[in-house]
Amino acid sequence: MGKCGLCPVRCGADRTRQAGACGAGADILLVKYGLHPYEEPCISYKNGSGTVFFGGCALRCAFCQNYELSRARCGREVSAKELAAVFCELEERGAENINLVTASHFVPQLLETFRIRRPKIPVVYNTHAYETLPALRALDPYIDVWLPDLKFFAPALSARYTGRADYFAVASRAVAFMAERKPDLREGKMYAGCIVRHLILPLGTGDSLRIIDWFAQLHSPATFSLMAQYTPCGDAERFPELRRPITAREYERVRAHLEQSGIERAFVQERAAADGKFIPDFSEKNDALF
Ligand code: SF4
Repeated sequence: MGKCGLCPVRCGADRTRQAGACGAGADILLVKYGLHPYEEPCISYKNGSGTVFFGGCALRCAFCQNYELSRARCGREVSAKELAAVFCELEERGAENINLVTASHFVPQLLETFRIRRPKIPVVYNTHAYETLPALRALDPYIDVWLPDLKFFAPALSARYTGRADYFAVASRAVAFMAERKPDLREGKMYAGCIVRHLILPLGTGDSLRIIDWFAQLHSPATFSLMAQYTPCGDAERFPELRRPITAREYERVRAHLEQSGIERAFVQERAAADGKFIPDFSEKNDALF
């Protein structure tokens, strides 16, 4: 916390005194938690995924659908003990798992939380994949399901939308590590494993094809999840190409490529998922996520 180098941004902030480039200080920023019915079927399963949203983000995509969380310093500061109590509450509410969304800037605090109380249900680590290998190795004993999002292949594209030209170089190493996790899927529910997500972007199909090709040559036991839910959000207005959902033609091009790629385990999201109603409601007036 004194000279933070936790994530690949390595901004060196003294988080005991001020927030780093990710917006996080020394304490966990908890924004909202609840049961999420719209993750992949093996993650949400019957009762919903016990999803926990944190404030801040090290990557900060321009089109982030959780923009209000990733940008502003929002959420309440909680201790590891309080976060452990949240995990416990979600378990009691019947959550299928504990789903940690974009928590890479809180890895030491998560480790402390797991030492206080380890959840009795699977723990899902939901990440933008811009992660260091030492951080992932430290988390590894506590994570059952890795859920990385492999966003960009071309350095020019990741630089345009995140300011990080090294995104693929960093994220591909992280995904290769996570994709090794042996799957445990029983009666449609994932107890362990890895699902690698990729969101098709408007005018981004060429990049999507290269991501699929890269994943196919990994020959890992992981599942690929092709996402079509892109909806203009956050700062997307600044980029003319991002002001619309993907077209049917863009969707079909990527889907056809996935079908021919030789990837054996895949989810394919319908284009109808590009609807704001599937984006969680982070306002305080609604206790539930949707
Ligand atoms: S986790 Fe936050 S404070 Fe630490 S290096 Fe990354 S951006 Fe900086």
